Amino acid sequence: MSQFRKEAQRPNFVRLEEEILALWDREKTFERSVEQRKGREKFVFIEGPPTANGLPHPGHILTRVMKDLVLRYKTMRGFYAPRRAGWDTHGLPVEIEVEKELGINTKGEIEEFGIEKFNRRCRDSVFRYEKEWVNATRRVGFWIDMDSPYITFKNTYIESVWWSLKEIWMRGLLYKGYKVVPFCPRCETTLSSHEVAQGYRDVEDPSIYVKFRVKRESQSHQSQSSSSVDATPVYFLAWTTTPWTLIGNIALAVHPQYTYVKVRVKEGEGDNNESILILAEARLDDVLSSNEQHEYDYEILERFKGETLADIEYEPLFEYAKISGGASHRVINADFVTLDEGTGIVHIAPAFGEVDYEVCRKGNLGFTQPVDTKGRFKEEVTPLAGVFVKDADNTIIEWLKQRGILFKEMRYMHSYPFCWRCGSPLLYYARESWFIAMSSLRDNLIANNEKIRWYPAHLKYGRFGNFLENIEDWALSRERFWGTPLNIWICSSCGAEYCVGSIKELRERAEGPVPDDLHRPYIDAVVLRCENCGGKMKRVKDVIDCWYDSGSAPFAQWHYPFETGNEDFRENYPADFITEAIDQTRGWFYSLLAVSTAIFDEPPYLNVLSLGHILDDKGVKMSKSKGNVVDINAIFNKEGADALRWYFFTAGPPYEDIRFSERGIMEKNKRFMNAFWNSYFFFITYATIDNFSPCDKEIPVENRAPIDRWIISRLNRVNKDVIAAIESFDIHVAARKLEDFVVNDLSNWYIRRSRRRFWVPEDNPDKDCAYLTLYEVLVTLCKLLAPFVPFITEYIYQNLVRG
Ligand SMILES: [Zn+2]
Ligand SMILES: [Zn+2]
Repeated sequence: MSQFRKEAQRPNFVRLEEEILALWDREKTFERSVEQRKGREKFVFIEGPPTANGLPHPGHILTRVMKDLVLRYKTMRGFYAPRRAGWDTHGLPVEIEVEKELGINTKGEIEEFGIEKFNRRCRDSVFRYEKEWVNATRRVGFWIDMDSPYITFKNTYIESVWWSLKEIWMRGLLYKGYKVVPFCPRCETTLSSHEVAQGYRDVEDPSIYVKFRVKRESQSHQSQSSSSVDATPVYFLAWTTTPWTLIGNIALAVHPQYTYVKVRVKEGEGDNNESILILAEARLDDVLSSNEQHEYDYEILERFKGETLADIEYEPLFEYAKISGGASHRVINADFVTLDEGTGIVHIAPAFGEVDYEVCRKGNLGFTQPVDTKGRFKEEVTPLAGVFVKDADNTIIEWLKQRGILFKEMRYMHSYPFCWRCGSPLLYYARESWFIAMSSLRDNLIANNEKIRWYPAHLKYGRFGNFLENIEDWALSRERFWGTPLNIWICSSCGAEYCVGSIKELRERAEGPVPDDLHRPYIDAVVLRCENCGGKMKRVKDVIDCWYDSGSAPFAQWHYPFETGNEDFRENYPADFITEAIDQTRGWFYSLLAVSTAIFDEPPYLNVLSLGHILDDKGVKMSKSKGNVVDINAIFNKEGADALRWYFFTAGPPYEDIRFSERGIMEKNKRFMNAFWNSYFFFITYATIDNFSPCDKEIPVENRAPIDRWIISRLNRVNKDVIAAIESFDIHVAARKLEDFVVNDLSNWYIRRSRRRFWVPEDNPDKDCAYLTLYEVLVTLCKLLAPFVPFITEYIYQNLVRG
């Protein structure tokens, strides 16, 4: 009897794969493949943690098979390559899903519902689809330890994150500032840029030209022509479409290089209606004459560069705002000023614009926030206290008119963002926020990036490198509920600030017991003693950005530095390899580098492969709302995991987008999988008839027929090329070389040409040569192909070698 099992001509790949899955489970093949290599050189991988509150989609499957290929390959090359799964469990996306279920969408409603109950729901929801994730992971053949994953909401994980934040705090890199964010005043929620993009509408807003009166003493500093030395008041003319923001005005910005003019303008009848205005010369026509019902008589008195206007002071329009931390009501120079619209003089309110905020911060100007979290004016803005800002526009315009400082009023059509959930106009709004001073670590980030190999290489100095060059401070805090609580306590009496770095420390300083669960709302109740004044310290209510959680994975997954010894962390740092989709350049790829640079000043990974996205067959990004997401399970059940994997590997360079097509997968099955199977089937059919056994025969390759020597030489070439290609993550090159070899060299050429040699009924040396050659080629192919298509190769290998 033959040592080989007979095979069907047409295999059922899906059933074959299920058999192999059962075999792997039974024999613990994955676990053993890792354990057997313990003590060898380590290949460290970090799993970018997904969130299991939604179903895995084709993009997740793509990253999973890419990870698997590299890890199987490295294992086969002899490396000890343990891999541990992880789950990202905090953050706004989790909260939003729960809000939807509860039918609520404001922070107030969450508080009414109860933070405790709300967070419990968040916690439950993050593993809602764990089973589907585990199943899909197993089904696609991604070998990873899903039994003991790291989970970002665990106390041990949070404690490590706290430890790291304390390190950052002790170095003075954690500070409180303001961040201007798009904010829905009704939902009381910050919106992500993605959410903002969903809600643009064309609206008509007021468009007003406002006169800011130059201070007398300031005026006299300037070189001036004799004609302006008179009693006529001098004004800067600025334009805005958001009159309500004038309450928060701190400065006026001009471009240092543009030419500005001082013009005498007659605004109406009579002698006392003259004023002198300053504006950009290039805007004169638009502002003072053309396209308007009204044309103004004006006379240019002076020309000068914008830079000469710097530091000139003007009278505040309103006196309501409480201004803190610096000078105000003066002209500054700024390169972002343009001559496309307005007057070339830009009204600056740091509370209501990101650019405004930055320019004030850099210029050491003051800050004022006259608006509360519901978008209403605060008490200090007496006549408008409690009024929603957009409703105040008309009142403010009326005041300006009465005081004679409204130069001109029009209407303006433009596109403005609204809340996609409730339809309220969004406000750009400065919120108190805690920051990590990443901009001060810029050089370290860049130096650490130098030590990282990027695939594709252009990302290193391109998309990622540019991002680092212009890095801004990391706005870390979120005024939300479900996240790692920010570990900062502030004294209600003296304002002292303290960052708690461990549970032990929390216990030592807390008045009263420390909760078992470190999340809100329990942690909010923990009051510390102030070492400065003996007063009570309360925790800042915020939680932190969940990107900081996942960025801490290299150490927090090992509960570093709290576990004794901490060999786990040291042995696994830095990682040799990570891979995720391209959108992670500003996500996880960055947050890993940022946290690691701030804590250890080292790169957290040495090789990073950035993957393309999966588009539908029309080239549109797959998304739930578009209804074009492919059902991955249907593909597993119809075509099998190998065909899907092979499709992903051969579709194109891994860093480019893939236009997903089910037909493409079917064609892979036809072309490649069947060619491979048929070659194997051919061998098995005749080997069983002839009772061929590879162990009985030994014929050196040089004594075989030329065609045998040719196919073996081709295989050796492919072997080298495939290894070289995988080493540089040119996965598609490796896969295509293998496909070409199987379909053309082996199936279409070697087997077709050699068929007759197998048909000879009696034993003869040439037939033995053919058998041996085909056998050796198939066994080697199984090994070369194993990282790509692990099921069919395992199956064939079992029969050829183990059988
Ligand atoms: Zn809203
Ligand atoms: Zn105190």
